[in-house]
Amino acid sequence: MRIVLMGPPGAGKGTQARRLSESTGMKHLSTGDILRAEVAAGSELGLLAKGFMDRGDYVPDSHIIAMIQKYIDDPAGVLLDGFPRTVFQAESLDNSLNDAGLGIDKIIHFSVDTDELINRLSSRAICSKCQTPYNLISDAPLKEDVCDKCGGKVSVRDDDKPKAIKNRMNVYEEQTAPVLDYYRSRREVTEIVATGSPDSVFESLTQAIRSGELSN
Ligand code: AMP
Repeated sequence: MRIVLMGPPGAGKGTQARRLSESTGMKHLSTGDILRAEVAAGSELGLLAKGFMDRGDYVPDSHIIAMIQKYIDDPAGVLLDGFPRTVFQAESLDNSLNDAGLGIDKIIHFSVDTDELINRLSSRAICSKCQTPYNLISDAPLKEDVCDKCGGKVSVRDDDKPKAIKNRMNVYEEQTAPVLDYYRSRREVTEIVATGSPDSVFESLTQAIRSGELSN
């Protein structure tokens, strides 16, 4: 089973994918999390990616496509979060899955209005070790700057600072909104309203998944 979660930065895809992965055992494939781990490890890919990420620009397609190949046919099923983000990535994913005799079971688009997105991103912080997200206003760690789950350091991502947020929104409109059009012209895209509490969004998400026939 492969589910693609689409939506702008701050829509809550990561939070929901993490929850869904815990409840279903599916693999959570977050290209952002993988890249942040590469940056933290100081790998060649991490060094290359850091500049793009800090500005809120996309890492070049060729690196992203090479990076995700080994995960897409995971037998546990895959929740794709943050990939594909360009039409080229979407085409490449279709080709790789076709070659493996696999397909996408469901595409879910999280919609949230722009003001709410900017509010969420401006108050977001993340654990540098296990990547658990926090909202510094409504869901702060119990001990300041320390992750409740693993004790790692919680801080604001460089790309959640105001200048980068603005750029990320523009890059999303220019490069990722066309991916939605690409999918809508080929298959069904299920819309969920992702404003509201994480619990209510999770309920909408699980309903959206249950409403379709999924194959292994
Ligand atoms: P995210 O955690 O999904 O918001 O991703 C953080 C950053 O990682 C993005 O702003 C991009 O710089 C980079 N990134 C993540 N996924 C992709 C992708 N599919 N294509 C290009 N860059 C990506």
